[in-house]
Amino acid sequence: MATRKLLLLPGDGIGPEAMAEVKKLIDMMNADFNAGFETEEGLVGGCAYDAHGQSISDADMDKAMAADAVLFGAVGGPKWDGVPYEVRPEAGLLRLRKEMELFANLRPAICYPALAATSSLKPEVVEGLDILILRELTGGVYFGEPKEIIDLGNGQKRGIDTQVYDTYEIERISGVAFELARTRSNRVCSMEKHNVMKSGVLWKEVVANTHKAKYSDVELTHMLADAGGMQLVRWPKQFDVIVTDNLFGDMLSDVAAMLTGSLGMLPSASLGAPDEKTGSRKALYEPVHGSAPDIAGQGIANPIAMIASFAMCLRYSFNMVEEADRLEKAIASVLDDGLRTKDLMSEGMTEVGTTAMGDAIVAKY
Ligand code: ATP
Ligand code: MG
Repeated sequence: MATRKLLLLPGDGIGPEAMAEVKKLIDMMNADFNAGFETEEGLVGGCAYDAHGQSISDADMDKAMAADAVLFGAVGGPKWDGVPYEVRPEAGLLRLRKEMELFANLRPAICYPALAATSSLKPEVVEGLDILILRELTGGVYFGEPKEIIDLGNGQKRGIDTQVYDTYEIERISGVAFELARTRSNRVCSMEKHNVMKSGVLWKEVVANTHKAKYSDVELTHMLADAGGMQLVRWPKQFDVIVTDNLFGDMLSDVAAMLTGSLGMLPSASLGAPDEKTGSRKALYEPVHGSAPDIAGQGIANPIAMIASFAMCLRYSFNMVEEADRLEKAIASVLDDGLRTKDLMSEGMTEVGTTAMGDAIVAKY
């Protein structure tokens, strides 16, 4: 049986606590289901800086490049506020994204039935919600040149950012969107602002051409990104996969995140291009939340975002679709049973710590 190579980068704060619960799942899947996971561990973020003065070492970078998938916890914390900018904890994650060329960021917004009642929106709006926002991660206005502040004299300055997208960048992200849609409800909504942006005109055109050339079985719609934000809050269940650029994706995925309630619930995946020979892609999976220094070390962190990120890893890196479904059902089931970490607590529920939540999910799997 093929081995499946995982690099674990737990990081700082609650990262290691959440990762410990994923390790239990990996051990169980190896022991009971002969899953063949081979794990290595590395350092990233503040702990890496403490160990060797870099936010990620070249050796760990090499391990990330060689792994089938990377599981990433979280980085940072007040302890490292004063470290030089180039070696700040977040630089480790940015280096991973850049060198692994992770251009496709997947952010699912799923509302577990047991949590619909405590959402900030009406239960009927979010109940059964299962959408996926696909954000382009390596291009657009965050990286385009020129990018500068010019002194115009007379006390006036000019800040400049440039939105740049080339055809190939839009083709590859829309390809991922259509492929993902085929494994879901087969619908893609592309969001841009072609009414005011040239890059938006090109975006819309290239998405439409990619659709026509290779994916005409998938239903494609286009929406202006501002209207999209409004629709996302009004009736999110109209969407399946939303594909959009780096900036709009940053905002829309945060909006979508709030539809589901807690930060402690949200997984993400970042994927690279498929290898020409093997078809496999580089991939990194991480919870949306950060290192939560305020609760680190107390055993109260919610491990579900990290565990759900591992479920995405099973689905997208190893094509273990049944196993991913089963793990997501195990999460839903412990919530149905009324187990809640502190961040999810509401009246009548049973409060549990990180370890007990992890154990309950392992037991349900
Ligand atoms: P970063 O800049 O790394 O994203 P942040 O300060 O923006 O960090 P988080 O570290 O995610 O955000 O923390 C925001 C708040 O949410 C904190 O109060 C934290 O305790 C809480 N929080 C985040 N993740 C979890 C979790 N898994 N379980 C419980 N509470 C969490
Ligand atoms: Mg944050």
